[in-house]
Amino acid sequence: MFGGTAETCPSCGATLVDDGDGMRFECHSCPAGPFFMEGGVLVDAWDPQRRRGNAKACLACGGSLANAERTEAWEDGDNAATFDTCPSCGFENPL
Ligand SMILES: [Zn+2]
Ligand SMILES: [Zn+2]
Repeated sequence: MFGGTAETCPSCGATLVDDGDGMRFECHSCPAGPFFMEGGVLVDAWDPQRRRGNAKACLACGGSLANAERTEAWEDGDNAATFDTCPSCGFENPL
């Protein structure tokens, strides 16, 4: 386990910049990331190999969308695109 909030970029090795809450990190040295801390493990939100099935990570909080509620396009009457509502923070993640 890591002692502090100094995480390194899995892509280029640079020190990641903590977004402020210790949960979201960005690399300012390469286009990788953002990265999210999930259960003590740094997860690249955009790495397809990290995605298990269609269980994506919430773009806002990094939580799993495995149990997210899916709203199809126009199901709400005013949403032009399908989105998954994050069960953790309620953010509407576009597909
Ligand atoms: Zn990097
Ligand atoms: Zn969320």
